[in-house]
Amino acid sequence: MSDGDAADAVNTADAPAIEANGLRYAYPDGTPAVDGVDVTVESGERVALLGPNGAGKSTLLQLLGGLIDPDEGTVRYFGETEDADTVRGRLSVLTQNPADYLFNPTVREDLAYGPTQQNLRDGEAEARVDRVAERLDLDELLSKPPFRLSGGQQRRAALASALTVEPDVLLLDEPVSDVDAANRETVLDLFDELAADGTTVVVSTPDTELVPQVADRVVLLDGSGRVAATGSTRAVLTDTTLLTDCDLRPPQVVRLFDGLADDPPLTVDAARDRLDGDDI
Ligand code: ADP
Repeated sequence: MSDGDAADAVNTADAPAIEANGLRYAYPDGTPAVDGVDVTVESGERVALLGPNGAGKSTLLQLLGGLIDPDEGTVRYFGETEDADTVRGRLSVLTQNPADYLFNPTVREDLAYGPTQQNLRDGEAEARVDRVAERLDLDELLSKPPFRLSGGQQRRAALASALTVEPDVLLLDEPVSDVDAANRETVLDLFDELAADGTTVVVSTPDTELVPQVADRVVLLDGSGRVAATGSTRAVLTDTTLLTDCDLRPPQVVRLFDGLADDPPLTVDAARDRLDGDDI
């Protein structure tokens, strides 16, 4: 360890989980996807990367997760390193493509794959697989070949494989996009539990209805790979002009309460509580 590393190590306790500066990325065919983006994610935060299709969310998530290297800019993890490979066990990235995570003969082996690389005590990998499978209602699917699963089942299995490594930071690209309503609730409840345990969670989505359920802070991307705004979930989701300018539809209840309340509810449940109290 150099002197510089030692000095850094002393100061990392309160460092952001992820600190990205000046990120730029264009695909080999020349398509610019991320164009000068700064993002800081504090440890324990729940952050949404929100933007319309093609805004660069998936690309940004892959840059933040160290799956691709930026053309320009830096990503620093835990205040310690810019080398994602050295923090792989602390960082789980779930891309849009579940098949990236499901390549073993059975779902059980896919879920066990990460933990078996982690040098755990005997039986711990299996215990984690059973725990996560039960939590995500995957028990019945564990002995199946992953390619036999439906799209929504594959997405939950891929999420489970990201969870069995028990990461400090989870980066999830549209994690409930093709998951049915009942399983969506299960997944969202699990996100709440992870946040309560202090896991840092970054979710990319074009869905303004999902954002209040998964994030306290929003990084809003415009249609051209740049940050249009960052702010609390409430501040961003109630700025209907800003959202419309970014080709996004504000949440339904925000539109419903627009002009009726200064601080509109963000979710149907919050709206119902408000109406039950006879007070909009
Ligand atoms: P989002 O996740 O917000 O929908 P993406 O990060 O997938 O946005 O895409 C950002 C831009 O990069 C889009 O213009 C998209 O068409 C382009 N893009 C994505 N993947 C590729 C690729 N493999 N090759 C070329 N262009 C791509």
